[in-house]
Amino acid sequence: MREGIHPEYHQAKVVCNCGNEFVTGSTKGDIHVEICSKCHPFYTGQQKAASARGRIEKFNRKYGVNAGK
Ligand SMILES: [Zn+2]
Repeated sequence: MREGIHPEYHQAKVVCNCGNEFVTGSTKGDIHVEICSKCHPFYTGQQKAASARGRIEKFNRKYGVNAGK
C-alpha cells in the first residue's frame, strides 16, 4: 500500500509541443506545455526568461503564428 502515503500527490506526465516528455510531481493529471527547457534552453534562466518571451512573441507575430492556440 505504498500509494496511500500521499494520495493527492502523484506523478504526472508532462508533454511538450516539441515532443519532449518528462515526469514531474503534480496533484493534477497529465500536463501539456507549449515550451520546455529542452526546446528552449534559455527558458531555464529566470533572468533571461522575460526578454526571451518577448523575442518569442515578436517571432510569432512576424511569422503569423497564433500563439494563443
Ligand atoms: Zn519542448
